[in-house]
Amino acid sequence: MPKRIDREEIVEFGLQYSTVLLDLLYPRHCPLCNTILNFGNVSVCNGCMKQQKRIKPPYCMKCGKTIGDSTLEYCQDCSKITKSYNRGFPVFSYTGGIKNALYDFKYKNQREYGAFFAECIMEQYGASLERLGLDGLIPIPVHKSKKKVRGYNQAEVLAKQLGKRLQIPVYPQYLVRVVNTNPQKELNDKTRMKNLKNAFKIGENTIKLRKVLLVDDIYTTGATIESCTRVLLQAGVEEVYYTSVAIGKGYSE
Ligand SMILES: [Zn+2]
Ligand SMILES: [Zn+2]
Repeated sequence: MPKRIDREEIVEFGLQYSTVLLDLLYPRHCPLCNTILNFGNVSVCNGCMKQQKRIKPPYCMKCGKTIGDSTLEYCQDCSKITKSYNRGFPVFSYTGGIKNALYDFKYKNQREYGAFFAECIMEQYGASLERLGLDGLIPIPVHKSKKKVRGYNQAEVLAKQLGKRLQIPVYPQYLVRVVNTNPQKELNDKTRMKNLKNAFKIGENTIKLRKVLLVDDIYTTGATIESCTRVLLQAGVEEVYYTSVAIGKGYSE
């Protein structure tokens, strides 16, 4: 199998490779099944594209998840728990190939998947996001000790790819994570919220932002987005939206 490379890294080091040459030397792989893609395809293979479970309307007017009943405004989770953000734009259900690709994106240095994920967000929500008149994109920060171990923050990689496409500035330092939380997979929403209390702070507030889009890889119960939103609202931001590559099923369905 050809050697895997990190295109992001090469660009960061400023080496003068042409992307065409790179693609010839190191063919791109489908982020979902790992097969080599045809030259020129920077997305996923056709087989995988058909299989992925995209979030379809009717959307929950809060978290953006598909709701079964189109007469309802909110999903069960959002009708029970107050969410301070305005609206969410998740692309896929957190299952199958997307789940694996997100794991590799976060833990296995597959930063180049960021471009593909950003394309997916644009395809589905590009027009809606452009209409919002956002003045900044803010990736969900990781604690600096985690960034040191992994070398990057996957949400920041994604936000930069998305910012390029939307032509909206990205502010990776606007929020900082001051508490290093443990994985929250097993916890319910209440415990998650408690865990995340005071976990985020404003890092850079010289720029006044009015409408922002939080960018994350996965939305599970929304506790992280909620914590960040509260900090931003307190700092004077007026409207907070979020986008994520995938969204979990929620805990009440
Ligand atoms: Zn594939
Ligand atoms: Zn909802």
